[in-house]
Amino acid sequence: MALRTEVSAKERKDIRTLIRFVGLYCRENHDGAKAPFTFRLLDLKAIAKEEVSVCPDCTRLLTYGLTMRLKCPHDPKSMCKKCETQCYHGEYKAKIREVMKFSGMYMIKHGRLRMLYHYLG
Ligand SMILES: [Zn+2]
Repeated sequence: MALRTEVSAKERKDIRTLIRFVGLYCRENHDGAKAPFTFRLLDLKAIAKEEVSVCPDCTRLLTYGLTMRLKCPHDPKSMCKKCETQCYHGEYKAKIREVMKFSGMYMIKHGRLRMLYHYLG
């Protein structure tokens, strides 16, 4: 498949979120060899604006997630949780849920911390 150039603003945002969440999760939970994530169907540099290094497991999860996002038949896309297509299966489903939960909490915690600094400063 050729490099996809037509990416909507919504897709772009979802892709960025996915990369950021998995990247954060991997950074905090996985040791070992990591490599910058690349995805052959997209020009990630133009979309993500930041490079994320992930382990082989997270590379697979991200590749899967991005592929599914691009293949999503719903436009406009609704919340994945409420979707009847449910493109995440088995281990990927459990994994992405864990990633979203961890990174979501992590960001909330850090957001609060920044807010606290704001009040103290
Ligand atoms: Zn990882």
